[in-house]
Amino acid sequence: MNYVASREFALRQDELDPLGSYRDKFHFPDFGRAHSVYLTGHSLGLQPRTAREAIEIELEDWARFGVEGHFEGRNPWYSYHELLSEPMAGIVGAKPSEVVCMNSLTTNLHLLFVSFYRPGDSRYKIISEGRMFPSDRYLLETQTRFHGHDPDDAIIEISPRDGEGVIREEDILAAIDEHASELALVFFGGVNYLTGQLFDMPKITAAAHAAGAIAGFDLAHAAGNVPLSLHDWDIDFAAWCSYKYLNSGPGNVGAIFVHEKHGENYDLPRFGGWWGHDKNTRFKMESGFKPMPGAEGWQLSNAPIFGMAVMKSSLEIFTEAGIPALRRKSEKLTGYLEFIINELATEFPDAGISIITSSTPRERGSQLSLNFTGHDREFFDKMTAAGVIADFREPCIIRVAPVPLYNSFEDVYNCGEVLRQALAGAPGE
Ligand SMILES: *Cc1c(COP(=O)(O)O)cnc(C)c1O
Repeated sequence: MNYVASREFALRQDELDPLGSYRDKFHFPDFGRAHSVYLTGHSLGLQPRTAREAIEIELEDWARFGVEGHFEGRNPWYSYHELLSEPMAGIVGAKPSEVVCMNSLTTNLHLLFVSFYRPGDSRYKIISEGRMFPSDRYLLETQTRFHGHDPDDAIIEISPRDGEGVIREEDILAAIDEHASELALVFFGGVNYLTGQLFDMPKITAAAHAAGAIAGFDLAHAAGNVPLSLHDWDIDFAAWCSYKYLNSGPGNVGAIFVHEKHGENYDLPRFGGWWGHDKNTRFKMESGFKPMPGAEGWQLSNAPIFGMAVMKSSLEIFTEAGIPALRRKSEKLTGYLEFIINELATEFPDAGISIITSSTPRERGSQLSLNFTGHDREFFDKMTAAGVIADFREPCIIRVAPVPLYNSFEDVYNCGEVLRQALAGAPGE
């Protein structure tokens, strides 16, 4: 696509955008400014306008029915989570029975590790990406220690080579091969939170399996962002949250994937709770845990309805828009941001601007991580004050996500203009 850094071009692309009307389905925080630009859907997605009504329905049914709402409500609470499985499965490329919405992300990963990280004396190592999201790093440290291993020995982190921004695929595959005989698990993000690197999940999974290891993924930054085919890729397990690209609200319920080849393996160790117990005998309240088949067999507790109501309204928007259309727009929109940033890098050669994220669409989703060497937090604060809401990480990495559901080409153009002003206002900084 031939991009032009002009408002006319951006507005024209917005007119041509088949998903352009989806912007109106969300509330945009305006911070008191007419033109604030929200580019941080990678951290907290925007609120669907339908969310409030979805919660109100459940509040009304609770008022009207009390406990009977479990069966009498418009969306009976007893089976509420089942309403979410199909749309969620569509987003991640799974069968509905392989997915369930429950708990939150880190909790779910610990529960899945109970089943899928079962180190033996010689096979106990975990290969993961360097610079993981801290919660995942703590997960790995505490899980390996729980099993009596030293995290420094048991966790092998693959990092970018010196002077490079993203991890080379060949380095991941070589490490899996090198450690094959002692490897229990390969655990990666789908998209790295810091660099925006999209990993080749099917390739990593195939390599893990060839080494005799399990392949698991944290899809916090991938779900709702990039096309996924968890079932076909033969991934063993995965978990993700719903408040980033999935727009389900702060701290809301997450989701898990367990491949169907494991879903009826009742020999797998797991922690049980009544909601994971066979639905036909659940209310007999007897002892003797008998897990439900599929991902539902990993549930512990009955569903938090108000959060799930918001999730339901958000997933409906995804189902309507469809992942293929979202991906098409995402590639164009992210490409436009990349173009604008590269223009600025040419215009301000002394500003030390570079893009950490790959320039290959197949290796990224909606997020570009920008490096402004020679700048610091003050530069980012200027950007925020001018109305562009992005994310800052030390020393001066700015993570920007033009989200295809609700961001426009004009948003990207406006972001570029604000950056230009901030750069021009600080010569030689
Ligand atoms: C956002 C994020 C988390 C957050 O975990 P919660 O348990 O939902 O608080 C964990 N891991 C990754 C990779 C994330 O991006």
